[in-house]
Amino acid sequence: MLMVEWARWFLSELPLFGATAICTHLVMSGGQTLFHYGFGHHRFGGIFFRNHIRFHHGYYAKGHLVSSAYRRSEGNNTPYFLLPTILVAGGMFLVLPLNLFVVMSAASAASFGAHVYLDKAYHAEGSSLARFAWFRRKQQLHFVHHLHANSNFAVIDFFWDRLLGTYRSPDMDAAIIATVGTHPANPSHVAPDLGSKAVSK
Ligand SMILES: [Zn+2]
Ligand SMILES: [Zn+2]
Repeated sequence: MLMVEWARWFLSELPLFGATAICTHLVMSGGQTLFHYGFGHHRFGGIFFRNHIRFHHGYYAKGHLVSSAYRRSEGNNTPYFLLPTILVAGGMFLVLPLNLFVVMSAASAASFGAHVYLDKAYHAEGSSLARFAWFRRKQQLHFVHHLHANSNFAVIDFFWDRLLGTYRSPDMDAAIIATVGTHPANPSHVAPDLGSKAVSK
């Protein structure tokens, strides 16, 4: 009896839980895009800017977008956006009912993990995700960001770039991406001016 009631309650709450999880992910992916756009590529971003331009864009530059060894901590700003997330979560704890707060926490942890994981997988040689068309598309969109640092700041949801006006289709660069994306390790092709290009907006 108790079990049935619990199941009934859970099913009745399910749409609300689902909506909460989806909204949480959208706030996460939108926050990541804005954070990357605002701090990663403008001088006022301070340490985020220097890290991101020097390491992430310096290491994974044109001709060298894929590597068998991911430089994990170097220049990857994605973990930093955990800080604002924790602040927002603290605020939500005060206003949300406990069950929705639990759903929100689980969803933001999952979304955060997905961002970090995909960011790594895009640059990893022979990622197991490469067999999926959606992954290859997002990977190309991210590679475009490395070729044109004023575009495609998202990691997962590139419609945020459409809203920001920074979306750039990979089709224009398909030829370059097709060759550099699959042939790793050619540091001689590293574009030396990527950092300055990134700030000249
Ligand atoms: Zn960037
Ligand atoms: Zn990248």
